[in-house]
Amino acid sequence: MRTATCLDHLAPYLFAQIDEKRDALAARGVDVISLGIGDPDTPTPTHIVDAMAEAIRNPKNHQYPDYAGSTAFRQAAAAWMRNRFGVEVDPAAEVLALIGSKEGIAHLHTAFLDPGDYVLAPSIGYPVYSGGAVLASANTYFMPMREEDGFLADFSHVPEEVLAKAKIMFLGYPNNPTGACATEKYFDRAIAFCQEHDLLLAHDNAYCDICFDGYRAPSILERPHAKECCIEFFSLSKSYNMTGWRIAFACGNEQAVRALGTVKNNLDSGQFTAVQEAGIAALSGDQRCVSDLCALYQRRRDLVVDALRGIGLECAAPKATIYVWAKVPDGETSASFATKLLEQAHVIVTPGSGYGPGGEGYIRISLTTPDKRLTEAVRRIKETM
Ligand SMILES: *Cc1c(COP(=O)(O)O)cnc(C)c1O
Repeated sequence: MRTATCLDHLAPYLFAQIDEKRDALAARGVDVISLGIGDPDTPTPTHIVDAMAEAIRNPKNHQYPDYAGSTAFRQAAAAWMRNRFGVEVDPAAEVLALIGSKEGIAHLHTAFLDPGDYVLAPSIGYPVYSGGAVLASANTYFMPMREEDGFLADFSHVPEEVLAKAKIMFLGYPNNPTGACATEKYFDRAIAFCQEHDLLLAHDNAYCDICFDGYRAPSILERPHAKECCIEFFSLSKSYNMTGWRIAFACGNEQAVRALGTVKNNLDSGQFTAVQEAGIAALSGDQRCVSDLCALYQRRRDLVVDALRGIGLECAAPKATIYVWAKVPDGETSASFATKLLEQAHVIVTPGSGYGPGGEGYIRISLTTPDKRLTEAVRRIKETM
């Protein structure tokens, strides 16, 4: 049989490769500490688990869900947008429940791209932005992301012939993997650019609630004219330790929300209503669990940043996200340094090159490892380097 040619163009999914390496070492009895994948290590808050336990016993929830998300979930998402950002979205027309934001981001390509079209994606970013384009037989133009520009993707030099075929620009701040945060001025420039070139601006806001040192990340929908061209993705995965539950939502421009909904109507039948009820408990409940989580990650960030600087690695202390992005020593590449850490310290970090062409020369360290293991990893890195 013959599979689709686009599958041959797909880069091997970064984390799958890392998992493979880890498993091979673990099989030899080596104690490997993974600071690779960003997957919260602390449990989902009890009030959310309790809401699910109750919802799962309601027979009404055992039937097909509402495809776009339950009215109650979409209303809870809209209320959260109002309380958190002062942004108004219509729960009926401008909000769509997702089976995780990865699902929504990947399906956005199907909703907008014809074969040969372009997406504009940051040269360092979440692999799904370009992976989704490959699956849609479309192309990716990587916008340069430079440290001296604060890792704000530079869209000022996109060639005319690319712009003529471009449909979506992806951005995501607070940023995975660099930890960079955007300014209001940058968002305003990006919105003006997308309006000028008739592009959808898809903003991935998975880390808006994981902020440190008093910083509060904005929604791009706070900016003037944003709703004319923006769709924004919010995930419950990182804010509420719900990566395994698969619950998120998209909101913003009505036409974009409707187009994504049309794709989903034909491919999936929505998220289990009981999971959506747990999502309502998360979005509408006490938000202290979120600030506790921020305090935990802030402490770990300081631990890792101190340790890295202690061995002479350059890194900024991020204001948000669950990652530290560090420069590799002179003479090393992302991959050679990550391999060295794995082989000598038995610590897994992610090579920056796995996030796109701009990531070479960096590694990413995730803060989602229990304190004791993180301390041990830091000790090993200090000792072997
Ligand atoms: C973790 C993450 C998400 C969230 O994905 P889910 O599918 O909602 O779990 C989205 N975007 C980025 C950049 C992420 O790092």
